[in-house]
This record gives sequence, C-alpha cells and structure tokens, in this order.
Amino acid sequence: MNTATAYETIIIGGGLAGLTCGLRLAEQGVKVAILEKGETDRYMCNSRICGGAFHVSYRDVFEPPANLLNAINSHTHGFAKPEFAETIASHVATTVNFLKSKGIRYIKVGTASHRQTTLAPPIATKGRDYWHGRGGDVMLRTLHAELKKAGATLLLGTRALRLRMAGGQCVGIEAEQQGKPLTLDARNVVISDGGFQANLEMLKEYISPAPERIRQRNAQTAMGDGLKMARAIGAQLTDMKRFYGHMLIQDAMTNDDLWPFPVMDDLCVAGVMVDNSGTRFVDEGLGGVYLANHVAGLADPLCSTVIFDQPIWDGPGKAFITPANPLIVTNGGTVHKAGSIAELAKKVGLPTQALEQTIAQYNAAIDAGTVTQLTPTRTTSSHKALPIRSAPFYAVRMAAGITYTMGGIAIDTHSQVLDANNNPITGLYAAGCATGGLEGGEHVGYVGGLSKSSVTGFRAAEHIAANRAR
Ligand SMILES: Cc1cc2nc3c(=O)[nH]c(=O)nc-3n(C[C@H](O)[C@H](O)[C@H](O)COP(=O)(O)OP(=O)(O)OC[C@H]3O[C@@H](n4cnc5c(N)ncnc54)[C@H](O)[C@@H]3O)c2cc1C
Repeated sequence: MNTATAYETIIIGGGLAGLTCGLRLAEQGVKVAILEKGETDRYMCNSRICGGAFHVSYRDVFEPPANLLNAINSHTHGFAKPEFAETIASHVATTVNFLKSKGIRYIKVGTASHRQTTLAPPIATKGRDYWHGRGGDVMLRTLHAELKKAGATLLLGTRALRLRMAGGQCVGIEAEQQGKPLTLDARNVVISDGGFQANLEMLKEYISPAPERIRQRNAQTAMGDGLKMARAIGAQLTDMKRFYGHMLIQDAMTNDDLWPFPVMDDLCVAGVMVDNSGTRFVDEGLGGVYLANHVAGLADPLCSTVIFDQPIWDGPGKAFITPANPLIVTNGGTVHKAGSIAELAKKVGLPTQALEQTIAQYNAAIDAGTVTQLTPTRTTSSHKALPIRSAPFYAVRMAAGITYTMGGIAIDTHSQVLDANNNPITGLYAAGCATGGLEGGEHVGYVGGLSKSSVTGFRAAEHIAANRAR
C-alpha cells in the first residue's frame, strides 16, 4: 500500500451519512478521509438545506423500536426490506444520541410526533436563506469541527470517480482534485454521495420520461456518481423507481421563491387533481409523496392542476409550518380564482364542460359515499375526501418536486454493499440516500432521509471499526 495516499477508510460525500460515519470512525482512531466534491467549507448538499426533522415514518425517533418498525411497515406497506427496517428502528436512538454527544442540538417543534427531534435552530419559514445558520447548516459545521478534533481529513474539491478493485475486494478509489487525478488506497470505501436526483439522464432511465419538467427540490449535488461506480463493479442496485418529494406550484419551475417551500401536498390531497383534459387522473388520497411520483411519471409532468374551494384554501391550505396559503401568493405564484367552476376552467385554460362534470361527479360520489368507486379511485383511509362546493373556487397549476431518490445500492444490516448474489463486497460500504431497499414500492413509502443517512453511516462505521479490531 502506498502510505503517502493511504487511508484505512475513504468516505465519498460529506453529507450527514458521510460525516456521521467519518466521526464515529475517527473517534475510534481509524485513519479516515472524507472526499467532498464541494469546494468551500459551506458546500451545498441536502443535509445542509434540509427541514431538520429526525423521524421514522413520521414517528419520533425515541419511540420504542417496535413502534418504529410498525410505522415503517405501515408506511411502506411492507415494502421495506425487513432487515433494513429493523436496523433503522433499533439503531436510530443510539445514532441520534451519538450525534447529541457530539454537540448536535435538537428541539421539539409543535406537537406532531415527527417534529419532536428537530435540529436546532429550526429552519426559517420563508426566504431563500431559510437554512443559513439553521438546523442542517449548524449540524454540518458542528460535525466538521468534531471531525477536525478527532483527526479526520476532509478533502474538499475532491470528486470520487471510480472504485479500485483487486481480487473482488475494494482497495481504494480514483478521484479528481481541482482538476487533477488522484489515486487513493484504502481498506474500506463508503459511498455516501446522496443519490441520483440531480442526474437527468439517470432520472430518465428510472423515474420520469421528461425529467427536465420536474422541479429539482434539492441541493442539486447528487449526480449518481456512487451508483455508477457501484454498478460498474457488479454491485446490486435496488428499487430505483421512486423518490421522496412533494407537490409544488408549477411556477416553482422558474421562481426560486416557490421551492422547496411551500409544499402543496395538503392542497392536492384535499382538492381534486385534473390533467389537461379536465378529468381526474390519480388517487389524491394516497398522499403528496405518492402524487409527486405519479405526476413525475406522466408523459408530461407539467400537465396537472389542483382544483379546490374556499374551505379547503382556508383549512388544509393553511396546514404545515410553511403553508401554501398565503405563501404561494405572497411569493409570486399564480392562483386562479373564480365564482364558478365554468369561469375557473376558462381562467386556467381547461375544457369547461369536462371540468364541471369532473367536479360534479366527485361531489356526488362524496354525497353517496362512493368516492372509492370513482375511476381513478379516491382512497379515504388516510385523507378524507372533501366536496368542492363553496365559492370562490381555485385552480393552481402543479409540478412534481424531487428531493431525493429512494432507490439505490443494496446493502446489508452493516451497510456493506451487496453483489448480485446478495454477498457483501469486501471493503465496500454505502450509506444514506445512495442506498435502496428501505423506502419506495407501489405506495411510495417514506421513512425519513435524516434517519436513514445517519443510521446507515453509523452502522458502516461500527462494522469497519469492529473488523479492524479483529
Ligand atoms: C428541502 C429539503 C428538506 C428536507 N427535510 C428533511 C427533513 O425534515 N427530515 C428528513 O428526514 N429528511 C429531510 N430531507 C432529506 C435529507 O436532507 C436527506 O435525506 C439527507 O440529508 C441525505 O444525506 P446524505 O448524506 O445521504 O446526502 P447529502 O446530504 O446530499 O450529501 C452527499 C454529499 O456527497 C457529495 N458528493 C456527491 N458526489 C460526490 C463525489 N463523486 N465525490 C465526492 N463527493 C460527492 C455531495 O456534494 C454532498 O455533499 C430534506 C431534504 C431537502 C432537500
């Protein structure tokens, strides 16, 4: 091994997954380097600009593991790999306590279970700078300081390009540092580059026929480099089709004040979603993350409009910490408003008769208690169907916003990367949003990016350190 460039462990990506892993290793005396392609010490990544809520399928991370496991299974409809679900449920409290011991501060926000362990200080509720000096930003800066104290190396401006393999084992990487090639030896490599949401070619391959018509609701740093490296050496990729994201107003495609907040999920779920023919095309009752996936998968992801009435605008429109009402208006979004559905159809440019018929049928089905028999069905188990009856009526053109890809590299419970035969590849780990197998499926079950990233990063470190001791 070339000692000038050798580390025991190289971590690709300085988001929450990579930094958690790096810190846990460094404090145990492992010689570790974190490669981060961002060039400045406040480089962009999803961890920095996140909302800060550590939860497990909307349950507080400190609830008993059995509750968390139930929540994962219920939200993913049993799609989560059992061992992955179990790992998250049983190790999230330990991981968050580890982060707390390193100075990461949490507060309770409101009473909702999923906000009881939220990074402090909480994000601002408006403005492009909502994350500056808040939750994720403070968390990363705190972890950087701790890493420095623990003797870890953070190589900024360094992009990993390829894995180096010898005899079926990962032995290092090829990278690029400020335009120059760099070869590094390592006993272990951890891929934690955050997924592939910003790579339009990969989105086209797996997620949407027209990815340029989806709003990038993320830091736009995750280019799928890790996935490509892993795929090239025969690693198993899993469940690549789904993503975590939200419905956004379509004006967010061009107006940066309309993403990542306000999220439009509550309005879309409470109202009626129609396509350009003025007819329903999706089951609104399956929730905003599902809707965003469905809309992204359409031939034209910019063809949807949500229709609602005044009580919905005043009720679900005001839900959530960054409510659509009034933020989409004050931030420059276009909200069509009219005294009748016919007038509304004209204003938003939808066929009048078709829209009137859609809304009339929907209201009649609610009255008759038959919404679940509509085509497409309107599920009511999680979100009640509300009539669209009290003028004024509203129409807002919608877009799908992608936050992070749920699918990725298959791993075992120690975050070791698996090959096509489910065998761990020696020396290769993956963590965070680069991994798959926990979230997604037909119902697009969401578990939680921060929990997933921190736990998988922590688990990788535990395994690397334990094997080193042998
Ligand atoms: C607006 C928003 C709100 C969110 N709110 C929440 C929330 O409240 N709760 C929650 O659980 N989750 C939330 N998330 C999701 C959460 O932020 C992510 O799931 C999590 O932070 C991902 O961590 P990560 O380490 O896997 O990836 P990232 O934080 O994206 O880090 C990956 C890093 O890898 C680097 N990188 C990429 N390629 C390379 C390469 N080839 N070489 C070197 N470096 C590379 C990138 O530059 C980046 O710094 C939110 C996300 C967003 C965008």
